[in-house]
Amino acid sequence: MAKRDYYEVLGVSRDASQEEIKKAYRKLARQYHPDVNKDDPQAAEKFKEIAEAYAVLSDPEKRAQYDRYGHAGPEGQGFGFDFSNFDFRNFGFGDIFGDLIDAFFGGGRREGPERGHDLRYELELTFREAAFGVEREIRVPRTEVCDACGGTGAAPGTRPRVCPACGGRGQVSFTQQTAFGRFIQTTTCAQCGGTGQFIDTPCGRCQGRGAVRRPRSIKVRVPAGVDDGFRLRLRREGESGIRGGPPGDLYVYIRVKPDPVFVRDGYDVISEVPVTFVQAALGGEVEVETLDGTERLRIPEGTQTGTVFRLRGKGIPHLNGRGRGDHRVQVRVVTPTRLTEKQKELLREFARLSGERVETAGKGFFGKMKDAFMG
Ligand SMILES: [Zn+2]
Ligand SMILES: [Zn+2]
Repeated sequence: MAKRDYYEVLGVSRDASQEEIKKAYRKLARQYHPDVNKDDPQAAEKFKEIAEAYAVLSDPEKRAQYDRYGHAGPEGQGFGFDFSNFDFRNFGFGDIFGDLIDAFFGGGRREGPERGHDLRYELELTFREAAFGVEREIRVPRTEVCDACGGTGAAPGTRPRVCPACGGRGQVSFTQQTAFGRFIQTTTCAQCGGTGQFIDTPCGRCQGRGAVRRPRSIKVRVPAGVDDGFRLRLRREGESGIRGGPPGDLYVYIRVKPDPVFVRDGYDVISEVPVTFVQAALGGEVEVETLDGTERLRIPEGTQTGTVFRLRGKGIPHLNGRGRGDHRVQVRVVTPTRLTEKQKELLREFARLSGERVETAGKGFFGKMKDAFMG
């Protein structure tokens, strides 16, 4: 059988990027791997063709040589990736097939101890809880060692046996003929994923994984002064380690619910207080809601809308424990509606004294229009 063009084999153009080549290869490798595609008698042959094409095109140097010399290679002896007599079944793959291991066995090599994964949890707090701190009990599902099998993955009463493919070493070697001589490639055993063990009857509780998911209660102490997006790190509260590795960490992300009254600005609290136009003009006292309860705020005479008053030390406690921010109260002068005739009369009198032109007694033009439309 004449060798097909490597680009044609992978179904990519000659100027395909490395990423495109990798993608095309992964897709085809999944499709034709002999362990996956048992029905197609041609699968093994096709798979070898794909593997060879990828081995050359994924290496920029070899790809350049292939573009120049074709299948013959720079020395006229090819590229040394001839898999025609190689049985992929029961074997691991060389380093050039690192991607393949990812594609079929779900991720990296499984060899020594590994640290457990970190976990992420979102904790929603009210404005006040975030300001003053709170203690919360949260339930976090995490993976723990299966206590039915003690983490071996083998059914209770049975034990994993030594992997027949690698003899328990977790690695297999194969010889590779290249233009520069014979090389021995050592790779992770595909049968056991590098554990060196083989399980005949998997544990029923964990389906042979050796681990189960279980919710756990964890007490979280949130310090005063945290803001939306703050991240708390709880060491060693993440997923259990793998093969004796240390556990990961738990990250608690703080979400602060919007408050109907308060807005936060750094360690300051901002709120708005409505003031009548009479209070604004003559001065007076208003009630302001703060984090510490209701406070009385003096409004001096002649206060304009938008004026900001500062209540020192009534803001949010600093995370470092030193003092608090301020509470900034913004005044909003409210124009009165639904005045009585008597009130209106007084305001007209006021306007006359100030030399202002206002609607005179009775209804103005707009009032009449309104009546005409609204009945
Ligand atoms: Zn188990
Ligand atoms: Zn093995």
